[in-house]
Amino acid sequence: MPPAASERPTRIAVHLDHLAFNLRSIRAHVGVPVMGIVKANAYGHGLVSVALHLQAQGVEQLGVAFVEEGIALRQAGVTVPILVLGGIFGRQVAQFILHDLEITVSSLDKLRQVEAAAQALGRKAVIHLKVDTGMERIGVHSYSARPFIEAAVASNWCILKGIYSHLACADDPQSPMTGQQLERFLEACAHIERTGAPMPLRHLANSGGVLHFPATWLDMVRPGILLYGVQPDPASRRSVDVRPVMSLASQVVYFKVVKAGNTVSYGATWAPERDTRVVTIPIGYGDGYPRALSSRGEVLIRGHRYPIVGRVCMDQFMVDIDQDSAWNEDEVVLIGSQGDDVLTVEALAQQAGVIPYEILVGLNDRIPREYRGI
Ligand SMILES: *Cc1c(COP(=O)(O)O)cnc(C)c1O
Repeated sequence: MPPAASERPTRIAVHLDHLAFNLRSIRAHVGVPVMGIVKANAYGHGLVSVALHLQAQGVEQLGVAFVEEGIALRQAGVTVPILVLGGIFGRQVAQFILHDLEITVSSLDKLRQVEAAAQALGRKAVIHLKVDTGMERIGVHSYSARPFIEAAVASNWCILKGIYSHLACADDPQSPMTGQQLERFLEACAHIERTGAPMPLRHLANSGGVLHFPATWLDMVRPGILLYGVQPDPASRRSVDVRPVMSLASQVVYFKVVKAGNTVSYGATWAPERDTRVVTIPIGYGDGYPRALSSRGEVLIRGHRYPIVGRVCMDQFMVDIDQDSAWNEDEVVLIGSQGDDVLTVEALAQQAGVIPYEILVGLNDRIPREYRGI
């Protein structure tokens, strides 16, 4: 084995066996094809490695946010269909077509831009129509979608592969919004039926839809965060069995005794009431570990849970181990399990006052990823 590219003790382990388990689990639950969402560096897990593994596991389709992400996947040898979910600019259309990426068409104007670029290249574009049913982000409003849909059906330069919308409140099993959005979406789909054209793939469900709203599954589902074994919201019902794909660990880099009353870290916001043992961990907000966890977060060392004390710095933070022992190079778990205890992304997010998505995508390239369970 060649030496690891980085000797940095802080690393993210990506458990690909759990990713495969989650894909199987979601597919068994919904019984329709899955578009695995891998935008934002596959929610921090590594765009290319995750996409290649999902492809090896037979995922039907992948979804990314930006054309650049799609091109990176094609260049890495990903061959399954890829839909770019974001809004497009006319100048990008040729890139989509040349890299065999499926285009989200979210207005009549953009449809015309796609047609013009496709005609100029002499190659048809594969498109999915985006209908807005209540998110007010991108897409033609469902209540005025008819001319848009008819133009797409009639287009000579576009292959109409899909029609979709996005749910605004699916994380909340109680929300009446999802039912309304589904109804508006199906009304838009009815315009296609009336033209007599074959119905393209209808897809609507994100992770929340997969968990809570079977009626939204339709012809394909688009789970992101659930694929990585994380619940979208504390209110989520755990109706699908998934396992966390990411763990994050570091090592103790320093040990000292802090005397009673002496403050720790920037701003001098924390001091022990009695002499205590404090260890330093070499990861900080420069890695995407939230500064909001200052004096709030927790880590696992030697199977025990200990509090972060004082402010999280850019590259380091301190942990109070009280009268216990810890040694340089001891493993420190920030996300994942050690002994009988576990720190979840969901709990971390709650302590930091953010959503789990932000924790995952925030962990940046300064932390090496290690792929396990292949
Ligand atoms: C990000 C995204 C998803 C996946 O959302 P999750 O909540 O992570 O499941 C699905 N569809 C669209 C259009 C998205 O932008």
